[in-house]
Amino acid sequence: MIKTCLKRFGLWPVVAAVTLISVLASLLISALVHYFVLGIAMPPAAWALTIGCPLLLAPTMSVGTFRLLLKLDHAHEQLRVISDTDYLTGAYNRRYFMERLHDEVERCARHGLPFSLALIDIDDFKAVNDGHGHSAGDEVLRQLALTCMSEARSIDTFARFGGEEFAMLLPQTGLSEALRWLDRLRDRVAQLRVELPDASLGVTVSIGVASPAQLLRPPAAEINAVLRIADEALYRAKREGKNRVATPLETVD
Ligand code: GH3
Ligand code: MG
Ligand code: MG
Repeated sequence: MIKTCLKRFGLWPVVAAVTLISVLASLLISALVHYFVLGIAMPPAAWALTIGCPLLLAPTMSVGTFRLLLKLDHAHEQLRVISDTDYLTGAYNRRYFMERLHDEVERCARHGLPFSLALIDIDDFKAVNDGHGHSAGDEVLRQLALTCMSEARSIDTFARFGGEEFAMLLPQTGLSEALRWLDRLRDRVAQLRVELPDASLGVTVSIGVASPAQLLRPPAAEINAVLRIADEALYRAKREGKNRVATPLETVD
């Protein structure tokens, strides 16, 4: 609770509140002891001690402790971001994506909510590296990730799955809606120009999409099955000429 208050109100209001509570608690305890145990009213010296001690001690001790707590919390948040993020592109990493996918599959199994999973692979990316160098390839990866992140809705999760392959998780999205949305994304990427010192590069992606609705045999919502279907769809998109969105089956929900 103190951590929440620190984050919400900042250090000094919380220190002031803790000091006030300490003074009041000290007064209450002292008054009770004097009244019920000693059977006398609190003398002036007891008043001074009862108020003075917590007034001096509470701020000195709590400032250091709360500062440390805030620093630890900040460090924890930084670590969390680092452990969830791909260093090169700023997209989420595969580990984080798999956690979200796991949650989504569970939600789908429990409540029957639809979701779609897309695997996005850059077309002929090796030629970028070979023709313009590895750092040009890195810039293409960054620009593509920025485009996809800016197009994604707040409920979507976009991650770098590895190398030049990315993944997008679209919660609450059936297959037909996902296909439309992903085709717009594909088109948006195709319009992208990556400006390099020696060239202006275009980039296209092939996208394979899967949704639990496609899985006919139980368990319908199973992570590996959804990933396998998206992967098959991606290969189909490559086979059929790249720069397209594909699903391995013709079924659309
Ligand atoms: P396709 O259209 O069939 O997908 O062909 P492709 O050339 O895109 O795919 P391929 O698998 O042949 O090549 C992928 C290349 O991506 C090979 C690898 O060196 C490069 N790559 C993987 N990770 C990185 C990276 O972090 N930075 C850069 N610059 N290149 C990378
Ligand atoms: Mg590729
Ligand atoms: Mg690839």
